[in-house]
Amino acid sequence: MGTHDSDYVDAYYGPPRWKVEADSARLPLVAIRAQASALLHDLGPPPPAADELTRLRYTYLERQLASLVARVEVLDGRRLTFDEESRALYDAVAPSYDEAHFARVLDQLSATLPGDGPLAERYAAFERAFVIPVDRLDAVFRRAIDECRARTRTHLRLPADERFSVAFVAGKSWSAYNWYEGHNKSLIQVNTSLPIHIDRAIDLACHEGYPGHHVQNVLLDSRLARERGWVEFSVAPLFSPQSLIAEGSANYGIRIAFPGAERVAFERDVLYPLAGLDPARAGEYAAVHELVSALGYADDEAARRYLNGRISADSAAHWLERYALMSPAQARQRVGFFDQYRAYVINYSLGQDLVRRYVESTAGPHASAERRWRVFADLLASPRLPSGLIPAGLVPARSGSRASPRG
Ligand SMILES: [Zn+2]
Repeated sequence: MGTHDSDYVDAYYGPPRWKVEADSARLPLVAIRAQASALLHDLGPPPPAADELTRLRYTYLERQLASLVARVEVLDGRRLTFDEESRALYDAVAPSYDEAHFARVLDQLSATLPGDGPLAERYAAFERAFVIPVDRLDAVFRRAIDECRARTRTHLRLPADERFSVAFVAGKSWSAYNWYEGHNKSLIQVNTSLPIHIDRAIDLACHEGYPGHHVQNVLLDSRLARERGWVEFSVAPLFSPQSLIAEGSANYGIRIAFPGAERVAFERDVLYPLAGLDPARAGEYAAVHELVSALGYADDEAARRYLNGRISADSAAHWLERYALMSPAQARQRVGFFDQYRAYVINYSLGQDLVRRYVESTAGPHASAERRWRVFADLLASPRLPSGLIPAGLVPARSGSRASPRG
């Protein structure tokens, strides 16, 4: 697939000769589809005495293969709606919200932000005071990463040689990307094309690094691919259910690493001074961003309308400016992301909500931090599907539902 779709193979750390063979074979899409279908047919049910993890492995492999078949068909020109595509590739469908839903959040923000001009202008003016100066980016990111790593290592046993390096790049459709390179090493690229605000330091250090993508890849590699010899975990297909768990846990991992008010305290006491920003405003900034995070599904909604052909790229960008409060440059970058990754956008907000509900309901309402970490880490290192995260009795969010995304 990687020879047809350069985004498909997010990471591969299996035997090098398999990559050489796949690259030289250059199977046509129709042959890849046929092989995946044959493998699905041969898979069969798990052995009767299989443990839970092995049973999960079977259903997981079945859905991963079905998503591969669906991606082949998309590349081959099959037209799917946004929701059909997200179900086929990510085993989930994001809830729909209308403008009125987001307008209510915007009204709350409007009452919070100073000034009396248009909300987008007031928000942009507010944001400008929290940009990390370019010459301080490296120091701020390094400190944030050290903190996230230390917090994660307090609760999780990680290989002694795990580490990642950070590189600053420009001109990408994403704001940051984790490339797992195998042998417990990752490269994290941070896109500096647009201004980077102070909240992104913890966001990116947790999401891309600890306990997010880097940690998950290290755990899948060491516990499933190497310890158990489950070779399918030596490849990470980007357009697959695995990505919903990856993005959802990378987002929710921020709250695991910094429960309650610990995040704002660390930002105020350590990161604001390092960035040369006014620590007295850390609480105010965090409160505004808590409200802005309730606009998360505006991203999915813009992508759904745009990819279903209901609105143009320009309209999608304007929709994002209005309902997701993105700057014009951020909105354009985001539409570029929709073009490149399509329904992948659902993996962020919906992924986070599904992972949060799963961890909170499995750990219990009054669980200790230790217990929450354990449930979270077990999820990272197990073949669990998005549809398997929904606790019994909870109906999955349906397209067309207007339930609160925080509900
Ligand atoms: Zn991510």
